[in-house]
Amino acid sequence: MSEQIKYVLDESAMPKDWYNLAADLPVPLAPVLHPGTLQPITGADLAPLFPMAVIQQEVSTERYIEIPDEVNQILRQWRPSPLFRARNLEKALDTPAKIYYKYEGVSPAGSHKPNTAIPQAFYNKIEGVKRLTTETGAGQWGTSLSYAGALFGLEVQVFQVRISYDQKPYRRAVMETYGATCVASPSTLTESGRAILAKNPNHPGSLGIAISEAVELAVQRDDTKYALGSVLNHVLLHQTITGQETQLQMAMAGDDPDIIIGCTGGGSNFAGIAFPFLGEQLRGGRKRRIIAVEPASCPSLTKGQYAYDFGDTAHLTPLTKMHTLGSTFTPPGFHAGGLRYHGMAPMVSHIKELGLIEAVAYHQTACFEAGVTFARAEGIVPAPESTHAVKGAIEEALRCKQEGKSETIVFLLSGHGHFDMAAYSDYFAGKLVDQSYDEKELGMALSGLPVVPDNIA
Ligand SMILES: *Cc1c(COP(=O)(O)O)cnc(C)c1O
Repeated sequence: MSEQIKYVLDESAMPKDWYNLAADLPVPLAPVLHPGTLQPITGADLAPLFPMAVIQQEVSTERYIEIPDEVNQILRQWRPSPLFRARNLEKALDTPAKIYYKYEGVSPAGSHKPNTAIPQAFYNKIEGVKRLTTETGAGQWGTSLSYAGALFGLEVQVFQVRISYDQKPYRRAVMETYGATCVASPSTLTESGRAILAKNPNHPGSLGIAISEAVELAVQRDDTKYALGSVLNHVLLHQTITGQETQLQMAMAGDDPDIIIGCTGGGSNFAGIAFPFLGEQLRGGRKRRIIAVEPASCPSLTKGQYAYDFGDTAHLTPLTKMHTLGSTFTPPGFHAGGLRYHGMAPMVSHIKELGLIEAVAYHQTACFEAGVTFARAEGIVPAPESTHAVKGAIEEALRCKQEGKSETIVFLLSGHGHFDMAAYSDYFAGKLVDQSYDEKELGMALSGLPVVPDNIA
């Protein structure tokens, strides 16, 4: 017999504020540096890229930041999102552990990313911006921003990593359906793109290159700004709505998590579920285990260096202190495109350094296996990125079984995999390989890290 246990919040219980972990950090974040002067940047330095409200959130240390009514109205289309008790998965694993998952695949884009796309588009709109540029890998962020752009009447120009552009035409079709323009990156629209194409006309692209192109275009026109789907403080902030809802839903379930798990690409969905719980702990509350799960082929948190680095390949962005594999590092192609980024959110990197969270890395075949186990028990086919969180949760549940412990696990299921079924087909056909990154290339990328003044680093 199968069982579905779902915890649904009333709309009136939706969080009114985003939670800002910066307010509770025991040690403040390292400053962000100007790429030219290598001195801490000011709000004015960021003004060509982001609207003022977003810049203020980026540097804020206020604990709670109010969610504007207009944003809340739109988020309600799919929020509050459900929390499920994975009873069937528990049975399939024969574990005494209790497993819960917070499901973000219910948004129009099918992932957590609209949680930040909507407020970012809103703040741009009210400050008079007409056009947004952005990058996307597999296409989830491009889709989310395109949807937000359609709602607020903003033009959206997406640079999609070439290899994904060719392999995943349906995400592009969704972006175009929402009215956005999507080109393959590297493109001929920008100097950064043309420079790379001149050297290699068949370059497969990377997120770092696509970011360079989007930034380059944004700074050229006053009516255009740039939007990023992960990594930055304000993006993590916008995602904390998921963790706050989870706190309420766990209380509804009469339970309390011992372990919190999320997958990490740039760190935003992980931050979303983890930060509200971590904040409680930092204010004197209960200590829980918090685990970030990343791909073994692009292991910034477990194998990267904690250092100042650029966010993009052409070195147009400010420098942030983060776990990085080097901005010129090109990760091997694997299916979780949303996790193929050389860096990690500065805030997630910082709490890893402080020993407040754990990190593990798994290869993609093990993650797809976990994804299939999950789908057969719970019915939802996870996005390739999300299978990493599923794998992390299953590993903990199996450890509980071995140790005879009934711990409570909650993880964030960041999205569904309906646009990634070719990856599942490859998995079933035995065509997926676990590629290791090239140690030599990593060494080279790390040796090229920018050198910053001693008084700052
Ligand atoms: C983009 C994406 C991720 C990775 O991004 P984070 O910023 O680390 O959350 C994970 N899962 C899904 C479904 C995504 O679309």
